[in-house]
Amino acid sequence: MKPAPFDYARPADWPAALALLAAGARPVAGGQSLGPMLNLRLALPERVADLRHLPDYAGVSMQGETVRIGAGTTHAAIEDGVVPGRLGEILAGVARRIAYRPVRNRGTIGGSFAHADPAADWVAVLPALPGHAIALGPQGERRIPLAEFVLGVFETALRSDELLRALELPALPAATRFGHWKFCRKPGEFSKATACVLALPGAVPTAVLAALDAAPLVIADASALLADPTAEAARITATLALDDPWRAALARTALRHAAEAVR
Ligand SMILES: Cc1cc2nc3c(=O)[nH]c(=O)nc-3n(C[C@H](O)[C@H](O)[C@H](O)COP(=O)(O)OP(=O)(O)OC[C@H]3O[C@@H](n4cnc5c(N)ncnc54)[C@H](O)[C@@H]3O)c2cc1C
Repeated sequence: MKPAPFDYARPADWPAALALLAAGARPVAGGQSLGPMLNLRLALPERVADLRHLPDYAGVSMQGETVRIGAGTTHAAIEDGVVPGRLGEILAGVARRIAYRPVRNRGTIGGSFAHADPAADWVAVLPALPGHAIALGPQGERRIPLAEFVLGVFETALRSDELLRALELPALPAATRFGHWKFCRKPGEFSKATACVLALPGAVPTAVLAALDAAPLVIADASALLADPTAEAARITATLALDDPWRAALARTALRHAAEAVR
């Protein structure tokens, strides 16, 4: 199928992008999710606003000990090491397992997080990390903790008059430990269960379980999971009341493998 006709706008600055949003335009970033939705006519916008030419939209900058990642930074750029230090190593490891390189060349971290597909890789990992999503609206910037950004399936804390402008995360100490595991039926497919565990030195470890057709489950204290991955993964999964035994087994396995992979 082909998309229904729509107008195309290319805002040159953020105020112009917000004005287009207020007038009902649908933002488009890499188009890797919106494109198929247009083709299938699941989305029927009268106008799309292409964000890719906005200043500071893509790229990474350091502000003291804070890493600011533009929403338009592609998965491929992150895979290729645009984010410095231990944080960059962790994000690159996640990015390189998203779909295929052609998708990663165009798809963006901000587009993926704003889309909030429950099976998406950034949705499964960013909530475990300290830091904020930076929303921009008519009143200026608003900071939303990464763990509170995704509210449900394709639902985020962004207001209808806001765009996701950037992500800000603290640079992570070199001794930060991380484990990540996802199950795909074949390479490049969306995950059927993803989990990750983050252990910052001297802090309580956190974990996320995702790709369960629901909002990601953020585990604020994953100490017990690290101490006994098998028992704790089973306990956590039992609290989810997953009625499909196959999904429950995958969720349990994802949590256990992510905890065992922490290094
Ligand atoms: C074949 C294929 C396989 C894929 N496999 C995976 C996979 O394994 N794992 C995975 O995580 N993803 C996968 N994806 C999705 C891909 O990662 C996309 O990059 C991602 O879902 C959306 O990013 P985008 O930049 O393309 O956003 P777009 O498609 O341009 O936009 C997605 C949505 O977010 C909105 N949006 C975009 N940017 C902003 C913003 N700054 N502020 C507010 N709203 C915004 C748009 O209006 C739209 O509703 C796959 C895609 C394809 C085509």
